[in-house]
Amino acid sequence: MSAVRGTRRPWVVVASVALLFTGSVPAASLSSAPAAAPRNVILLIGDGMGDSEITMARDHSVGAEGRLAMDELPATGAYVTSSVDGRGRPDYVTDSAAGATSWATGHKTVNGRVSKTHDTNRPLPTLLELAKRQGLATGSVTTASVADATPAALTSHVTDRSCKGPADMASCPADLRAAGGAGSVVEQAVALRPDVLLGGGADLFAQQVTDGPDRGRTVLEQARARGYQVVRDRAELGAAAPDRPVLGLFAPDNVPAEWTGRPAVAGGTPAQRCTKSNPARPAGTPTLVEETRAALKLLTARNERQKDRGKGFFLQVEGAGIDDRAHDADPCGQVGETVAFDRAVRVALDYAAEHGNTLVVVTADHGHASQIVPVDARPAGRSTTLVTDEGGQMQVAYGSGAVDDVQEHTGTQVRVAARGPRAEEVRGVHANTALFGTLGRALGLRPSIGATPPPGDAGR
Ligand SMILES: [Zn+2]
Repeated sequence: MSAVRGTRRPWVVVASVALLFTGSVPAASLSSAPAAAPRNVILLIGDGMGDSEITMARDHSVGAEGRLAMDELPATGAYVTSSVDGRGRPDYVTDSAAGATSWATGHKTVNGRVSKTHDTNRPLPTLLELAKRQGLATGSVTTASVADATPAALTSHVTDRSCKGPADMASCPADLRAAGGAGSVVEQAVALRPDVLLGGGADLFAQQVTDGPDRGRTVLEQARARGYQVVRDRAELGAAAPDRPVLGLFAPDNVPAEWTGRPAVAGGTPAQRCTKSNPARPAGTPTLVEETRAALKLLTARNERQKDRGKGFFLQVEGAGIDDRAHDADPCGQVGETVAFDRAVRVALDYAAEHGNTLVVVTADHGHASQIVPVDARPAGRSTTLVTDEGGQMQVAYGSGAVDDVQEHTGTQVRVAARGPRAEEVRGVHANTALFGTLGRALGLRPSIGATPPPGDAGR
């Protein structure tokens, strides 16, 4: 049985990967490109951060005439975010699993599925896997659990996003190790072994592996056996050494939001100022900015340690709380998470200014429910009025779900903005799957590595 230890990475459907990477660039220019300086990509995903959510954060924090860090990226375009159903027909409102699968693999899939095909439920190679295979450093940072849909789409392949830990596999019978699958999201992430994996989700790592060679161990023990140093708070993260991969688990599940306030209610609330702190956040919890800085430092050090000075890195940073707070019609939590995300964008831009050949991309997986409406409007759904930092009043309405239920995503196109090599490729309006090709080309990924395309699978 020990022969199956480690990853069993299914490198299928790579014929279409090649197609996506070559895109507007002649194929020959990919293979004949001289070995250059390290090529870095920092991809920042605001989960649920549509234009309306960006505008709320701008109005509230820097003022209607102000500029967020994400407003400074010179190349701007839009991604269409729809997903598909099992027969490939459009589903106009995506979830985060199908959204992240789009840029992680270049393929649209069904809502809830993580980096597997929409029809045959087969694994699709991800950007992070391809980058790692080619010797680049890799990392993923999130304010959600590290097994949440957006980070999961880079590091795992499961039929349903709920299959986060070994005890959560009810919706993923085909992914059980006993059935020849690769196991739960956390097991696959640990087996893949990105250099940096930061977020919440500690409770998942306390689960026991139920089959395969690690049976009886906890996932955390499995991670330590794979060489991970595990860090639990800001101080431990700051002290992490770059010679081994780093797993940061800063909360039992999602990391609590940075700001608090009164949720929107039916009929509205009196005008309120947001509280820019959250008692539910333990004092040692690192912010998204601190996590992003730490990840960049670790990935840079890993590259510099290598004899050839490294090949660059791929880092994804997700502001997940924007979506999470919008689901609960909590505008203060939502704006605070957007502002926290924007500070991480600033860190990425500062890094790119100091390190050439770094592409920074800021985008979202889908829009969300919040709308800025006139202060004297009487919205049918939940609403509240925020007093902004510049002293204005901003009424915010949530109407994509019932007043006593969660608010839903919306099917709007979302902004994509970029700076650095290949940034121009984001201009215009594209499918969100186009990002896979742009990032792959920026990283210099060779699509054919280790790939044997199966007959008849042309992909989408
Ligand atoms: Zn959501």
